Amino acid sequence: MSDGSKENVVIVGGGPAGAAAACILAEAKRAVLLIERDAVPRHKVCGEFLSIEAQTYLAHLGIDLDGLGASRISRLRLIRKRQQTEIDLPFVARGLSRRTLDEALLLQAQSRGARLIRGRMVRSISADPLQIDTGSYDQISAEAVFLATGKHDVRGMKRISTGTMNDLIGFKLHYRLTEPQQQALYGATEVLLFSGGYAGLQIVEQDIANLCLVASRQRFEQVGKNWDALLDWIEGECPHLAERLRDAEPLFERPLSIFQIPYGFLHEPEPDEPQGLFRLGDQVGVIPSFTGEGLSIALHSGCLAASTFLAHGRASSLFHRRIRSDIHLSLRLASVLNRIVRHGAGQQAVLQVCSIWPAAMRHLTTLTRVQEASVSRALAS
Ligand SMILES: Cc1cc2nc3c(=O)[nH]c(=O)nc-3n(C[C@H](O)[C@H](O)[C@H](O)COP(=O)(O)OP(=O)(O)OC[C@H]3O[C@@H](n4cnc5c(N)ncnc54)[C@H](O)[C@@H]3O)c2cc1C
Repeated sequence: MSDGSKENVVIVGGGPAGAAAACILAEAKRAVLLIERDAVPRHKVCGEFLSIEAQTYLAHLGIDLDGLGASRISRLRLIRKRQQTEIDLPFVARGLSRRTLDEALLLQAQSRGARLIRGRMVRSISADPLQIDTGSYDQISAEAVFLATGKHDVRGMKRISTGTMNDLIGFKLHYRLTEPQQQALYGATEVLLFSGGYAGLQIVEQDIANLCLVASRQRFEQVGKNWDALLDWIEGECPHLAERLRDAEPLFERPLSIFQIPYGFLHEPEPDEPQGLFRLGDQVGVIPSFTGEGLSIALHSGCLAASTFLAHGRASSLFHRRIRSDIHLSLRLASVLNRIVRHGAGQQAVLQVCSIWPAAMRHLTTLTRVQEASVSRALAS
């Protein structure tokens, strides 16, 4: 490296995927540099639902969810218009804000010996040899680069996400609910279905409620591209949400948003893709958010890439083959379900299956998750 240090691996992006990889590599005494664009912890658009697989990875990485105050969630309440049904989740999920979770993971990576540079953005990456440009005087070269920038592409290594669903806009806002509404929500994740999209509402740490939703761009334009108007419209269709948010205090000035989410994207390496370039998290696959499985895919890919590097060096094509085989069925199924739950007839059908045959619904959702065998394999190596 031109700045005189000798990292084996440079990780670009300090979200859950990048931080997980940094933890494993640093623990194995590899020299790791992690570059994160944000100088300070921040909120991110996310439902903040931690599935059992995500919890398994977090425990393995030494993250103490109880210590961080994560909520416990054991029921799924599905709501459409004036109908609702409730099923037990097949596991106890946890709720934790991304600001708290991502910071805990970064600190964990640092405490294991990873070198962390915050507040610096990687501008471009080039191959042969792998080089990273951070826009300052130094070009960084490394044996391997782990690309973990989430939905943001880096020049020179853009994803090809054609054919994916990207007409959705994601929003997130934290609220302090009134006491009775907080009590009513406690222990459940509520999924509210409305025309063209869906919302998730649940408690995270410190009894804060997280509202996260995806709506079609068309709907957002119809309401004048205005958040308050969109929320009014959703509350009109879903009185349950209006009740939950009555007299609630929004905790951000305005919601966070994210445009053009490429749901269903799965990276297919080009034959000439350089060895040593590992794509993690949303850079390798983007699962529709209602599954609450994006974080476990991010953590899984981070751990799998790190263990592949430790065992096989720069063999990133091997990693990409493994990760594709681990997640492609979940992604496919979740994408089909995502199409179904955006439209009235499909929403009605999902509600009926949930109320008549909850075990079938539980089984179906299990299929959209990273399978136990894949988790064990990534953690054993
Ligand atoms: C609406 C919505 C709701 C969701 N809800 C859930 C849920 O409830 N549960 C769940 O498990 N998953 C959920 N997900 C999915 C989950 O948020 C993502 O899968 C997860 O954040 C991916 O992690 P990551 O580490 O790949 O990327 P990110 O978390 O996006 O992290 C990427 C990091 O890279 C940094 N970065 C970006 N560009 C650069 C650069 N050029 N240089 C340096 N640093 C850079 C960013 O600052 C960021 O910290 C949801 C997603 C959406 C869109």
